[in-house]
Amino acid sequence: GERTATNLNALADEYLRLAYHGLRAKDKTFNATLNPDFDPSLPPVAVISQDLGRVLLNLLNNAFYAVRQRQQTGEAGYAPTVSISTRNLGKEVEIRVRDNGAGIPAAVRAKIFQPFFTTKPTGEGTGLGLSLSYDIITQGHGGTLVVESEEGKGTEFVISFPINQVG
Ligand code: ADP
Ligand code: MG
Repeated sequence: GERTATNLNALADEYLRLAYHGLRAKDKTFNATLNPDFDPSLPPVAVISQDLGRVLLNLLNNAFYAVRQRQQTGEAGYAPTVSISTRNLGKEVEIRVRDNGAGIPAAVRAKIFQPFFTTKPTGEGTGLGLSLSYDIITQGHGGTLVVESEEGKGTEFVISFPINQVG
C-alpha cells in the first residue's frame, strides 16, 4: 500500500459507525453508546489508509464484541459504551479505542498480539486481528500499539505514530 494524506477523524468516525452497524445488523437487540472525541486540530496524516482502516475496524469490532458479551451477562445497570478519540500531539498522533467491557485478564493479555490467539468460539474469531494490527502500526507506520485493561472496568488500545512521516 501507499501512503496518502488522510483525515483520521473522518476515517475513525466512518469505522466507528461501520463496526456498530455491522454488529446491529446481526443482533437487532444490541445497543451501545458511541463516544467519538476527535481533535479538530489534527492535520491530514500520511498513512496507508486501507491498512489503518483494518486496524481501526479490528479494534472496534473487538470493543463492540466485549461490551455485547458483558451486556449478555445481564448485569444490572450496565450501559455498553465504545469510545474512540484522536489527539494531535504535535510530532505524533494518538488514537484511542476504549470499551467498558469485562477487561482482559493478565494471563490472556500476555498473548493477545500472538497470531491465531483467540478466546472466541470457532467462526467468531481468527485470532489474527491484533497481530496484524500490531504489524501495521509498528512496521507499516513506525508507531506503537499498546493495551491498557482493567478487569471489571474495560479495555483501551492506544495507537500512536509520527505525523507526516513519509516512506
Ligand atoms: P479475535 O478477535 O479474532 O479473537 P484478535 O487478535 O482481534 O482476535 O484478539 C485476540 C483476543 O484478544 C480476543 O480473542 C480477546 O480474548 C482479546 N481481546 C481483544 N480485544 C479485546 C477487548 N476490547 N476486550 C476484551 N478482550 C479483548
Ligand atoms: Mg479481533
